[in-house]
Amino acid sequence: MQGPGRTGRGRGHLRHRPGYAVLAALLVAAVGSGCAAGTDSRTVTGAGAGAGPGAKALAGQPGGPAGNAGAAGTRAAQAEKARLAQAARVIAAKKWGLAGTPLAAPAPPAVKPHITTRKGFEVEGGDDSLPPVFTTVPTEKKIVFLTMDDGDDKDPELLRMMSELNIPYSAFLSDYLVRDDYAYFKDAQSRGVTLNNHTLKHRYLPGLSHDEQKREICDQQDIIEKQFGSRPRLFRPPYGNYNGDTLRIAKSCGITAVPLWSEEAFPDHMEWREEDQDLHPGDIILTHFRGQKDWKGSMPDLVRAVMKVITDKGYAVARLEDYV
Ligand SMILES: [Zn+2]
Repeated sequence: MQGPGRTGRGRGHLRHRPGYAVLAALLVAAVGSGCAAGTDSRTVTGAGAGAGPGAKALAGQPGGPAGNAGAAGTRAAQAEKARLAQAARVIAAKKWGLAGTPLAAPAPPAVKPHITTRKGFEVEGGDDSLPPVFTTVPTEKKIVFLTMDDGDDKDPELLRMMSELNIPYSAFLSDYLVRDDYAYFKDAQSRGVTLNNHTLKHRYLPGLSHDEQKREICDQQDIIEKQFGSRPRLFRPPYGNYNGDTLRIAKSCGITAVPLWSEEAFPDHMEWREEDQDLHPGDIILTHFRGQKDWKGSMPDLVRAVMKVITDKGYAVARLEDYV
């Protein structure tokens, strides 16, 4: 694997610049963990939870007027933190050869939006008790969500790049591709990536019996919990194909939502679900852990390409688990 400045696309201006790396590291250190902005604000809320009424007011619980001064102070600290985070992102964007600096996402909502199954995506006999299947999260903010599937390519540069750029993304893992290197995804998890369920062996679920589907979905729940210490809430069926059994089984072993996608990102193009071939507030973007052997570029090439589309259209990347 070559250095981060490599594009593979013949543009020669992306040489490694150690000065940026040092500055970025200092700024990231100043900001704290370098995790997503959403994580930061939750950390602030969490850390303040035992600190008195101010923290309670922040968390949206009943709090007395005494909480106001504390909340204002916390807001100022959060604004300063956000400013530093964006300054670090400017430097990281240059280091990693992005066309522009990714925009900062707004603070996550205090209450997650109510999500229902997209029209036309219902299953026979399904009702509101099943996990919703959707391609866009209801929001009016100019945000999109990045999701990365399967887990075949395990490029360490991807993890570093996303941490330094402070861009949140969610993984949907299929065990047969992941099991040879759980440590890679533990590293991703330690950097703030949520590891979600994408089945054991990536089979076409509607073609399987009830018991086979149960193994594919629920055994993967158990494996992720055992390997990574937390049981997924989100599940994405391979190819986006599912039936009533799929949703009922997923629900039975802990799944609460089934996010599909509105767009699929490749290193050299986007595939759009909607006729207008555009991004929309709350769109979920699918891409994959893939590399040169599968498509025309490395994972950093993919990130550069998809972030150019997102940033040029005025969107920021938010953290899916903050909204779902
Ligand atoms: Zn897949």
